Amino acid sequence: MASRESQNGGWKNCETGEITRLVGALKSRRRIQFARRAASVATVVVLLIGSTVFFSRPEPTAMNYGGISCEQVIANAAQFVRGELSRATADRIQLHLEHCEPCRRKIERMRASSERNARRQPSHSRVLQASAGNVSSSQPTNGMLMLAWNQQ
Ligand SMILES: [Zn+2]
Repeated sequence: MASRESQNGGWKNCETGEITRLVGALKSRRRIQFARRAASVATVVVLLIGSTVFFSRPEPTAMNYGGISCEQVIANAAQFVRGELSRATADRIQLHLEHCEPCRRKIERMRASSERNARRQPSHSRVLQASAGNVSSSQPTNGMLMLAWNQQ
């Protein structure tokens, strides 16, 4: 038994709870590593979401004055010129035009040409107006006639 004792000499018996403490330390180290990894993943995710939000938010560029794009302004231009849009939409387009010269020029051209068209009313529409008893002939023709005339 003595030889066995000496063989074991370099080794200390584990104190009570030593293993548990080591395991606990190991576990907490793993937890920290996990937390670090999770944090870096979270950072990447936050950066991704952040950049997505950053790049997709409506920016006050030439393309989005008044909260609408030039495309939308052009799409609604004809109705805008004829005053057929809702107050809110017309206001937004107006705001866009105050800042966006290309769109403003386009609308001005459309307005000018529609005014030219209104002045150059075909004579038969005046006759129709007159026969309908419309004394104030300076009033623009009804929408349908305007539309037909504009499409020529
Ligand atoms: Zn524009």
